[in-house]
Amino acid sequence: MTARTTDIEKAAGVLRAGGLVAFPTETVYGLGANAEDPAAVARIFQVKGRPPSHPLIVHLGGAEHLDDWVEDVPATARLLAEHFWPGPLTLVLRRGRRVPLEATGGLETVAVRVPDHPVALALLSAFGGGVTAPSANRFGSVSPTTANHVRAELGNAVDFVLDGGPCEVGVESTIVDTTGGTPSILRPGGVTREDLEAVLGYPLAVPTASGVRVPGQHPSHYAPRARVVLVEPEKVVAEAELAQELGHQVGVFLPASFADAPVKAHAVVAVPGSMAAYARGLYGFLRELDRQGCDLIIASLPAKEGLGLAIANRLRRAAGPRPSSTGNAPRQ
Ligand code: AMP
Ligand code: MG
Repeated sequence: MTARTTDIEKAAGVLRAGGLVAFPTETVYGLGANAEDPAAVARIFQVKGRPPSHPLIVHLGGAEHLDDWVEDVPATARLLAEHFWPGPLTLVLRRGRRVPLEATGGLETVAVRVPDHPVALALLSAFGGGVTAPSANRFGSVSPTTANHVRAELGNAVDFVLDGGPCEVGVESTIVDTTGGTPSILRPGGVTREDLEAVLGYPLAVPTASGVRVPGQHPSHYAPRARVVLVEPEKVVAEAELAQELGHQVGVFLPASFADAPVKAHAVVAVPGSMAAYARGLYGFLRELDRQGCDLIIASLPAKEGLGLAIANRLRRAAGPRPSSTGNAPRQ
């Protein structure tokens, strides 16, 4: 589905007037504001319930705009931008003066990317500036991959929702920090580590903890209402049936290798064998199990190669300890 020209114009007008626009990208739907309007940027944090210290990504209409927004672009960053933009790769660089501190959570670095989606690119072109956007969901919850997910979660808190159909990639962008000597992956995502390494010609570090404030590094993030429990693939069926017998409403992520196993549970998701299809469906599956009233989701981690690294990262966070004492309450 492609948004109509009138919708793009309307959305660009909302951004110019300081409003918030939810828009599709190839990764997930973003909650966008004019990156140069601190009041509009502040509203993003308010609507998401996101702590103001957590930085956003500035979306640009093309790699040719990069130097307007950042300073000191290292050769590695140029190389990566050349290869992967437009695409699901976010580069962390030194903040240019055009970027207000509100958008970077007070950091002197800024995350930038050029999304690979016709509607996002049309919006960026019609608007003409940078659009700062995190995922269009409440802080900590499951990212939206359809316009309906955004409407269901944020409703009237957004001034305009651009519908561009379901997102192709389905998990967020890979974030690479290029401000240090050697680039490192801050968050695995739509561009695989293997693809990055093939272009760079050397192995990349994927730090488990870092001094940089990245919400994706919180123990609990990307989380549905239901509690998520991870077990070995061969134990998924037995654990799910036991929990169901104990009175839980169990949702099962049935691994592709066990696709034919009969399983007694409240709801079953057949996990796609292809990692691209799994990534595309992941957040929709989690939302669907919530919708069906599951209170517990039993899943296993895919092998951490290719897109499996990003999927495993999101599932581990979805299964992370929850801030609330009940464990199951939806977070604001
Ligand atoms: P989201 O988490 O989907 O809401 O989108 C924003 C992502 O970009 C978060 O994971 C941010 O922490 C990350 N990010 C933005 N700016 C920076 C930065 N300067 N350094 C590190 N990560 C950043
Ligand atoms: Mg997010």
